[in-house]
Amino acid sequence: MREIIRANNSGFCFGVERAVKQSFDFVSPQGRVVTLGPLIHNKDVTQKLANKGIHEISMEDIPSLMKEDTVIIRTHGVAMAVYDELKEQGVSIVDLTCPYVINIQKKVKLHHDKGYKIVILGDEHHPEVVGINGYCNNSAYITKSGEIDFPMKGKICVVAQTTEKQSNWVKLITNIAETAKEFVAFNTICKATEDRQKSAEEISKEVDAMIVIGGYTSSNTTKLYEICKKNCPMTFHIENAGELDEIKEKIKNAVRVGITAGASTPEWIIKEAMENL
Ligand code: SF4
Repeated sequence: MREIIRANNSGFCFGVERAVKQSFDFVSPQGRVVTLGPLIHNKDVTQKLANKGIHEISMEDIPSLMKEDTVIIRTHGVAMAVYDELKEQGVSIVDLTCPYVINIQKKVKLHHDKGYKIVILGDEHHPEVVGINGYCNNSAYITKSGEIDFPMKGKICVVAQTTEKQSNWVKLITNIAETAKEFVAFNTICKATEDRQKSAEEISKEVDAMIVIGGYTSSNTTKLYEICKKNCPMTFHIENAGELDEIKEKIKNAVRVGITAGASTPEWIIKEAMENL
């Protein structure tokens, strides 16, 4: 008899839940409603939004927006310059930037204005990091691995992308401490991320196979996959239950199967996968 064990902390986090609910509930008085980039890294959810008439646009599309349009800003947030562009177009803004991300943006702006060099632990191409960098005139030193390749001189302010791994944070702080004389560090890895990573770590040590559910472009899901894979070689990353058919053959002898899901994976997708298994 197979046992399916779900990680204690998995699926939608507070910020994503709030963004998805408010987007689906939003009724436009007039004009189009668009999201700047996909609302969350989950194709099933963005498809449902598209069915409701809420489509995604890119930064390059901003000049073609009309006054009566509404732009939804997703949890990742955007740079200050993007708000200026949107205001110039005269559009309405529904700002669903996660409060934890706003906290990072404020810290970065405050310290940049005080003359600190900003260092961000994260992926320079991830929209959250691109947005945060916009609060220090795009001058941040960004490292994905925690390695630094130039001496940290002057005053340094360090922050992390909310979905970073704690181990990378420790590595970065250790590296900075070796050369910097003066630095302030704000561990801005989100509690929801930490909780999901801890639960995934624990459960992946106890099972024969591990299924991680979430978008392929989701940063926090990818980190969960990496953590689980270290402990459980039979770890698979899927976006939805439809992808399980291929995997079921590979895990047919697994008695204990663990399940976890990224912060942008809706409950119905997790339940569907559990039932399928
Ligand atoms: S992972 Fe954390 S920072 Fe990101 S949206 Fe969720 S609650 Fe906000």
